[in-house]
Amino acid sequence: MLEISDLKVHFPLASGQVVRAVDGVTLTLTPGEVMGLVGESGSGKSTVGKAALRLVPATDGGIRIGNLDVLSARGKQMRDLRSRAQMVFQDPHSSLNPRMTIRRAVSEGLILNTSLRGRALRDKVAEMLEAMGLPAQFHERFPHELSGGQKQRVCIARALVLDPELLVLDEPTSALDVSVQAQILRVLRDLHKVRPEMTQLFISHNLAVIRFLCQSVAVMYLGRIVEAGPVARVFEAPAHPYTRALLSAVPVPEATRRPDRIRLEGDIPSPTALPPGCAFHTRCPIAEKGLCDVTAPPEVKLDDGRSVRCHLA
Ligand code: SF4
Repeated sequence: MLEISDLKVHFPLASGQVVRAVDGVTLTLTPGEVMGLVGESGSGKSTVGKAALRLVPATDGGIRIGNLDVLSARGKQMRDLRSRAQMVFQDPHSSLNPRMTIRRAVSEGLILNTSLRGRALRDKVAEMLEAMGLPAQFHERFPHELSGGQKQRVCIARALVLDPELLVLDEPTSALDVSVQAQILRVLRDLHKVRPEMTQLFISHNLAVIRFLCQSVAVMYLGRIVEAGPVARVFEAPAHPYTRALLSAVPVPEATRRPDRIRLEGDIPSPTALPPGCAFHTRCPIAEKGLCDVTAPPEVKLDDGRSVRCHLA
């Protein structure tokens, strides 16, 4: 359903440096798959999601959504792309036009991309908002009259009303209060039950959320995928030291904390100056001098469906 091959997204700076936000990402999502894309801030995960929908320009590589070649799409194909693939952003406050009622916000995509008008349009929008837990009394309200969680429900309704085949969700709960996050997570989990055919790429730094919602996971570090595979396998037996470090940082009660907890030292390096060899070697607790700082590890496929990039995995 979504095929990303050797995607590169580089941003040249006025200083002459180049930000290598995404530097050779390959991902395949089958129809109906819910994949989590996880990594620290600055790993490039949001840029992958935006590039997949052509919201940022790709520097190199290929992206296909079904039979649509995203990077060469023009005219009608671009309109197709906008209705076949939708994105929900992190911050619902800035995603909605403050001067539009929520009925109008959800109607817009239908007016631009379909021939639905009048009563049929109103009914479809009302049905979608109600399915998101926003009954009729909300439909003529403006965004400032809604809570953060209600605004994010409007954003999800706006994305779903076009019946997209692919939904990209970029940290959809992280700008919300903790008490509201659980409600939105339940909405998203139910979404997969109601629309099992819809493919979802769920971008998050939160491993607990990925485990709750996703079937597969890809772990990103400095613009590359370092480990990918079924959620159950990656979480049970992470093969890459970076995945192990992320998992061991998930808060758990002290009594159940594993003794082999890995603490990552320092910050993620700048994507304008990628370290040579394995990009993780500057922080990796088991890096081997003369190997990891010199040679980039190739991708290795494991028997259980995982892939990993580490010389010592
Ligand atoms: Fe660590 Fe070396 Fe593996 Fe990179 S290749 S993750 S530096 S052990």
